[in-house]
Amino acid sequence: MPGWVPIIGVLITLFVLGFTGAPLLVWAIAGAAALSGFGAPVWVWAVYGVLVVLFNVTPLRRALLSSSVMKTMEALQFLPTISETEQTAIDAGTVWMDAELFSGKPDFNKTLDQLYPELSDKEQAFLDNEVETLCAMVDDWDIHQRGDLPTKAWDYMKEKRFFGMLIPEEYGGLGFSAEARSAVVQKLGTRSTPLSITVMVPNSLGPGELLLHYGTDEQKDHYLPKLAHGDMIPAFALTEPNAGSDAGAMESRGEVFRGDDGELYVRLNWTKRYISLAAISDVLGMAFKLRDPDNLLGKGEDLGITCALVPSDADGVKLGRRHDPLGIAFYNCPTEGEDVVLPIDAIIGGADGAGRGWAMLMDALSAGRGIMLPAQSTGGLKYFARVAGAHAAVREQFGLSIGKFEGIEEPLARIAGYAYILEAARKYTNGAIDSGEKPSVVSAIMKYQATEMQRDGVNDAMDILAGNAISRGPNNLLAFAYQGTPISITVEGANILTRTMMI
Ligand SMILES: Cc1cc2nc3c(=O)[nH]c(=O)nc-3n(C[C@H](O)[C@H](O)[C@H](O)COP(=O)(O)OP(=O)(O)OC[C@H]3O[C@@H](n4cnc5c(N)ncnc54)[C@H](O)[C@@H]3O)c2cc1C
Repeated sequence: MPGWVPIIGVLITLFVLGFTGAPLLVWAIAGAAALSGFGAPVWVWAVYGVLVVLFNVTPLRRALLSSSVMKTMEALQFLPTISETEQTAIDAGTVWMDAELFSGKPDFNKTLDQLYPELSDKEQAFLDNEVETLCAMVDDWDIHQRGDLPTKAWDYMKEKRFFGMLIPEEYGGLGFSAEARSAVVQKLGTRSTPLSITVMVPNSLGPGELLLHYGTDEQKDHYLPKLAHGDMIPAFALTEPNAGSDAGAMESRGEVFRGDDGELYVRLNWTKRYISLAAISDVLGMAFKLRDPDNLLGKGEDLGITCALVPSDADGVKLGRRHDPLGIAFYNCPTEGEDVVLPIDAIIGGADGAGRGWAMLMDALSAGRGIMLPAQSTGGLKYFARVAGAHAAVREQFGLSIGKFEGIEEPLARIAGYAYILEAARKYTNGAIDSGEKPSVVSAIMKYQATEMQRDGVNDAMDILAGNAISRGPNNLLAFAYQGTPISITVEGANILTRTMMI
């Protein structure tokens, strides 16, 4: 037999084992066969035997091989270190059905056992009455011409407590479930994006939610009723020119000091941008890094990220000119603070809350990210199905409804499929949140997938409506949805970061 035949045999075997991902034991047997075929001497067999045992007996492999490889990698600093803010983000929230999905062997009975939430009678009535009435009050084209919602809509939202959906009834709010909040935003978004964003902001991460979970009793009693009735419009200020996705890198600073009256105060300086509702806010939820140079709180000098409530009319607070978020007419602006002095009680949770801001934010986002933007995207997909479906039925070209062309059926089917997937995922995730979970990974998946499906959906709908979706005017049913799509891709964790880092 020529010498190259066994070599080719070995190469083919290596290829097959590698291609099929054969277990280590199969590699060991194949190696033994090769050694035997080549007539290996006894000492080679001995070395080979030791290696086989070392690699195949898991406890031995871990103790002798893996741990020393890991130690060497750590010593040579091959692996990046995880900062405290990153670790807090990783630890935030709870693990829910994601554990099953990522196990590779999900228990489908457990998957089906989860809460599939329904609206209460009160929530359903709100959807059928107040939400319908509000939708009838606004005209999306008119909102975009004026750059604001009509006054009667603002008054109605305040009167009917649209801004207090997550605030419990004992504080004057509506005390709605995640499923109900999601249903309201979903519906409003089909009428007007500025309308749904305006309702969404006070009902997601911000003063209301943070106070609810971490506020002192005095803070809750003072703020929650005002927030619930819309007497105070809140905004939440995290993002800065040099701290967007990497919010933990914020440069806004707070310093604890003792005033002449003997009381403790915080002096704040900040530069924030892209802050929704800030332009018309009464209170800003402010995230900053807190220092206590004289250790007055007894927790050390660098306390870390902290959240406080800043009245928008406090001395030193500047609310900037409105940003123009792609022409979508909701309020959004930069804000600066110069030597703004607040009592220590302005910190959410009081002095105990000093330095706990990052953990509060990460925990709140673990649930919140899964509710509002996915609701808006789901509503968007249903809306695209209706608009594009109707258009495809009535618009005729070549003597046929365009919906009869396979090329149009394909995007229509995709829109319908995505709407179905998202409606199921929306309810399923809301069920988790309403059962007390804060499923951080699932929320990130929802945020990413829902907004990406909405982006695909609006592109499909635009293609189907063609010229009808391009000439702007009151009868263009898609232009603003198309224009505003990058906003949901960007906020609450820009999508590339959400996919590659969080998920
Ligand atoms: C209309 C609007 C409303 C907003 N409202 C608010 C608000 O109310 N309050 C508030 O605090 N903020 C708000 N924001 C800010 C928003 O949260 C940020 O825009 C967002 O976090 C992204 O930050 P950035 O724009 O600076 O982008 P960058 O952080 O500069 O990101 C640029 C790109 O890099 C990617 N990227 C960054 N880091 C990584 C990584 N590690 N791995 C992979 N990719 C990465 C991002 O995904 C993105 O694609 C709002 C923004 C907009 C546009």
